[in-house]
Amino acid sequence: MLASLALLLTACSEDQPGGGRPRVLATTSVIAGFAKAIAADDATVVTLVPAGVDIHAYDPPVSAAREIARAGVLLVNGCNLEQNLLDAILLNRGDGSLLAAVSATADELQRESVEGVARATCDPHRWLDAARAMQYALAIGAALAAADPAHSAGYAERTRALVQELAALDAELRQTLDAVPAERRRIVVFHDAFAYFAASYGFELSASVLPSGSGQDPSAGAVADVVELVRRSAVPAVFHEPQFPSRVLELVAEETGARMLVLYSIPIPGQVDSYAEMMRANARALVDGLAP
Ligand SMILES: [Zn+2]
Repeated sequence: MLASLALLLTACSEDQPGGGRPRVLATTSVIAGFAKAIAADDATVVTLVPAGVDIHAYDPPVSAAREIARAGVLLVNGCNLEQNLLDAILLNRGDGSLLAAVSATADELQRESVEGVARATCDPHRWLDAARAMQYALAIGAALAAADPAHSAGYAERTRALVQELAALDAELRQTLDAVPAERRRIVVFHDAFAYFAASYGFELSASVLPSGSGQDPSAGAVADVVELVRRSAVPAVFHEPQFPSRVLELVAEETGARMLVLYSIPIPGQVDSYAEMMRANARALVDGLAP
């Protein structure tokens, strides 16, 4: 009896270097933050893309292959946010590992495979709508429970708590944003991360200077168009994201007299460390820039 127990423990720790706990790999810090809240002490969560680094242009280092191979659960956003990283994940993932595309809706997962959803052409920035972030929490909770059924009750309980937190955050954001009157709810941003946010919180996305994930500099013509739009619609502020160089929006702000403020699409360490801090900072910036 003792001998077989010892054997079992050895087998476990050999399979899973985290002391028998499942190892969960998340591509982004937002997904990792949710996964950590749900995992608590039952699983080890690691993040593939360093905090504050934009995933669109991220090329994984050689060491990523080992992290991917070690993981029992692989959490990706989907809608092709991962691009090159997804190739690396599919190539290096371990046998029997579980892959989840956590931004996907139940409908999408009925129509397509997880890999299909992970690579699908759609706007990936769904986490910027707190109501859709609840979907992330549910998907992450389900993946952890499927990979580690012995702790499924704990995962389910902490998933419920996270969904409640996100619902409360969503309500709080709406209340903060009430200070911006309808006719001023126009946002000009640098990269087009805010379509889901705008649709959910009642803003009109007037312009994005940089097409999503293109990695290209905007053309002079595109910049002139934004200047014209900001002038015509008398937008009082334009918004840039810290992980992207903001020279273009600086030019727009200089030419039009609009203020340049920050909207975050990912947490930036030392500025906004968590998802909730990021969303609150965004709501405050919008009120600061757009409210009368
Ligand atoms: Zn983006």
